[in-house]
Amino acid sequence: MACYQHILLAADFTEHGKAVAEKAKALAELHQATLSIIHVMDYIPITDAAYGPIIPFDGDLTEQLMTAAKRQLTKMAVDFDIAEKNQIMEIGSPKLEIVRIAKEIQADLIVVGSHGRHGLALLLGSTANGVLHHAVCDVLAVRLSDD
Ligand code: AMP
Repeated sequence: MACYQHILLAADFTEHGKAVAEKAKALAELHQATLSIIHVMDYIPITDAAYGPIIPFDGDLTEQLMTAAKRQLTKMAVDFDIAEKNQIMEIGSPKLEIVRIAKEIQADLIVVGSHGRHGLALLLGSTANGVLHHAVCDVLAVRLSDD
């Protein structure tokens, strides 16, 4: 069986994130693969029927959110011994960015949780589902305990 060489862990910093990261780390060790971590900050435009067009995030707020997310990313990367060059932070649609970055870094396995913030009820529209359908490499959806 071919070994994985570059594993991309998708981290959303929820309570389940640690279990997903542990699985990715164990696989990386087993396959002696490089482990990268990505967090995508959802770009949620604010809409208001009264104004019609989309009002984008305020610049300062985006920067503050980015700083907070980067701090979480660094902490998780340190906990799982992931080198700084393999820590990736993006803004946009999580599923699209995860798939795009996986291609860019030539990851051959993406590890996601079976659910995250959106819970089981929205699983069909979830990041895991989107990644599974669009990725060009293998995807492991780690089944989380309350599925
Ligand atoms: P969800 O779509 O919220 O149910 O999340 C399913 C899984 O997708 C999570 O367990 C994470 O592995 C991954 N994921 C969700 N949101 C993000 C995000 N913003 N950045 C990186 N990975 C994410």
